[in-house]
Amino acid sequence: MRNGIGDREEEVARALIDGPVYARLDQAEPALQGWLRQGQPNCFVPYDRVGIDPFSELFRITLRAEGTVRGTGGIDIVSDDCATGVPGLYVAGDAASREMMTGAVSGGGAVNSSWALASGWWAGKGASTHAKRRTGKAFRSAVQSLGQAGLRPASSASADISASEVIEVVRSEVTPLGKNFFRTGEGLEKSGERLESVWRDVRDHLQGEGLDRVRTREAASIAAAGRWSVAAALHRTESRGMHRRTDLPGKSPAFAHRLVITGVDEFRIAGAPERLAELAS
Ligand SMILES: Cc1cc2nc3c(=O)[nH]c(=O)nc-3n(C[C@H](O)[C@H](O)[C@H](O)COP(=O)(O)OP(=O)(O)OC[C@H]3O[C@@H](n4cnc5c(N)ncnc54)[C@H](O)[C@@H]3O)c2cc1C
Repeated sequence: MRNGIGDREEEVARALIDGPVYARLDQAEPALQGWLRQGQPNCFVPYDRVGIDPFSELFRITLRAEGTVRGTGGIDIVSDDCATGVPGLYVAGDAASREMMTGAVSGGGAVNSSWALASGWWAGKGASTHAKRRTGKAFRSAVQSLGQAGLRPASSASADISASEVIEVVRSEVTPLGKNFFRTGEGLEKSGERLESVWRDVRDHLQGEGLDRVRTREAASIAAAGRWSVAAALHRTESRGMHRRTDLPGKSPAFAHRLVITGVDEFRIAGAPERLAELAS
């Protein structure tokens, strides 16, 4: 399955690296314009807000990184009720891994929203069954704080590090088209080193007070997700779906499966078949 505009999105990405790119939907005749507006009203809201008629005027375009947000990746599901490796945590929708349905490219045109609805149903059922099983047990008296990065730093030595700096560094490694739409082993190595260093700062020093803790925790999860995605990209020594290695353009049959990352500070990467065998044993 291909999402977006097929192979031509690579041409657009190359042009965007060279300079600004503009578009105009001038091949839509008036009847089609009406259908487009009716069929995808959300797509026209941004144009209407800034007063652009996309059918007659040029407007500047860019590509947004889908990455682990709505693209591939997400929290691994280990059972048919959407349970995860963490007891009591159930996942659905974009947050949940859905490569089993969509493959190496994000599914568009109904796959993602039907997945959100279906997995939401299964996860809700799983979570409520889990909660019912616990009724009667005084589990509230046994709760303890688990979160560390961004909340409870590993080191007592203070260091000047802010959530916005962390987000800026991660963004500069995972969103530029030159680094992530077109990947190379060398580029990924450099990004990986930078993200490892940011992660160490986050783990050891990042913390906030009051409501700021939400922000520092978000920054920590962005740093963790960026680090995992670059590590998985380095591990996948081929090109497949959204993962385009200009130095390794072909697909390798050895990688015709998902990669599962387990662990936070120290993690390991396994192919999905090995991981499933592990879970079953
Ligand atoms: C531009 C675009 C076009 C798309 N087109 C299609 C399409 O044509 N067909 C298709 O099937 N799919 C499409 N999708 C994908 C589809 O919209 C998503 O897969 C689906 O909406 C995911 O649902 P979800 O409930 O998992 O996540 P979301 O819809 O993102 O819901 C998550 C919610 O959680 C809220 N939230 C986040 N953090 C917090 C917090 N800390 N506390 C409380 N709330 C929080 C967010 O505000 C949001 O409301 C498109 C997506 C985009 C962005």
